[in-house]
Amino acid sequence: MTYEPVIGLEIHVELLTATKLFCGCLTGFGAQPNSQCCPVCLGLPGALPVLNRRAVEFAVMAGLALGCRIHTRSKFDRKNYFYPDLPKAYQISQFDLPFCVDGAVSFELDGGPSEAGITRVHLEEEAGKSVHSGDSILGSTYSSIDYNRSGIPLIEIVTEPDLRSPEAAKAFLEQLRTTLQYTGVSDCKMQEGSLRCDANVSLRPVGQEPFGTKVEVKNMNSFRAVERALAYEIHRQTGVLTGGDTVSQETRAWDEARGVTVSMRSKEESHDYRYFPEPDLMPVTMEAPWIEGLRARLPELPLARKRRFCRDFSLSHDEAYQLTQSRETADFFEAAAALHPSPKAVSNWINGELARLLNEAGVAITVSPVTPEMLSKLLDYVKAGTISSTAAKDVLEDMFVTKRSAELVIKEKGLEQISDSDAIGSVVQAIIEAHPEEAAAFRAGKDKVLGFFVGQVMREMRGKANPQVVNELLRQKLRN
Ligand code: ADP
Ligand code: ZN
Ligand code: MG
Repeated sequence: MTYEPVIGLEIHVELLTATKLFCGCLTGFGAQPNSQCCPVCLGLPGALPVLNRRAVEFAVMAGLALGCRIHTRSKFDRKNYFYPDLPKAYQISQFDLPFCVDGAVSFELDGGPSEAGITRVHLEEEAGKSVHSGDSILGSTYSSIDYNRSGIPLIEIVTEPDLRSPEAAKAFLEQLRTTLQYTGVSDCKMQEGSLRCDANVSLRPVGQEPFGTKVEVKNMNSFRAVERALAYEIHRQTGVLTGGDTVSQETRAWDEARGVTVSMRSKEESHDYRYFPEPDLMPVTMEAPWIEGLRARLPELPLARKRRFCRDFSLSHDEAYQLTQSRETADFFEAAAALHPSPKAVSNWINGELARLLNEAGVAITVSPVTPEMLSKLLDYVKAGTISSTAAKDVLEDMFVTKRSAELVIKEKGLEQISDSDAIGSVVQAIIEAHPEEAAAFRAGKDKVLGFFVGQVMREMRGKANPQVVNELLRQKLRN
């Protein structure tokens, strides 16, 4: 029997508001523990929540970017559970009337189009963070709690069970992250916990319509980990089913070091949370024009931009994909491509040498020492044959460190390429005369010897000769 995996994801994303969801405390990452708290986010008795308008706007913008319908009437609910990082013993969330429903995310898988439905996007508050004295709660002698994170606005995005492989889940997540980053509602940094993903997976015999029993997997801290955890879980469930057993519905944790999932607990049901409407907050009504105003604030989204880059700049899918993975890189490309006649060259240099330099220096492209204008000038020199592309790499490196223009660097280093046939011709002549045996070999049909001559001429001219001219002159003079 062969089985087909069915996967649905639940993604939590912290919103980039300056202050928390129900109080004025700051949200910045990495502050002294418990330095960004107040009676509201510490859950002290009598403290009352006040809704952050910006958080609602961001949640709705996220929903719109994910193709959702927006509920014009909605509300908050209390989700009750006990945990040390949840001081009120309930989380303010949304139950039956989330802000956004029925969306979809298009993404590309193996070069073809793919899509996953978005069931809902709702707004809720973040819990605090447990900090264990040891590596994990097991084996720790004590745990501390940092409430700086408590009350940061969070959206939960729930997908339909539409994904059919670990690779599809990863591709979907990448597209989701890029989309949210474009809208500016979150930085989606998995390492800092501003994006977290739980994965639900079940198997069903190929051809069978009803879904099998699902398992929820938690604790993955990279997209690669989500992919690996799903692959492991599919393998494990296949073993259970082919052994004649049934999969039990449970929550499992991914153990990154061992590369396995381990059982955490049996799955809780929504009635376990005793949801009820939040009495301290008014229901939320949104007028259609207000929603349309938010839609108008959305930028061109990554997939649309990628397709436009392919069409308008004749870039390959891979090139355009790489450029549009970040909005800032795509902006940089468009600024440079507007100034230089070859978009292909601009793309190659941004994805290649510039990306390498930025990466090595740990510098964001928004503050690149080489601006789009500077890069386009450099590429103009390459196109005009003033410098070779090899020399241009050195020039770019220098520009990156010194912030000087291409023109200045080329002049100072004396890198201007020599294309003058007379100057190159006399060197070519001298080299041929100095190597009569190799010249004879070339004339006898040993084409490979040409490379030797090119090398000699280049060495003599300290790499500055135009290679095309060198090649032509060598062929011409060797034939005589
Ligand atoms: P629960 O009631 O257990 O929370 P939901 O129906 O709300 O389950 O779905 C939670 C997540 O699990 C969603 O992302 C959904 O797509 C996914 N899911 C639901 N059923 C299955 C299934 N049989 N196999 C895999 N994923 C599923
Ligand atoms: Zn607070
Ligand atoms: Mg559910």
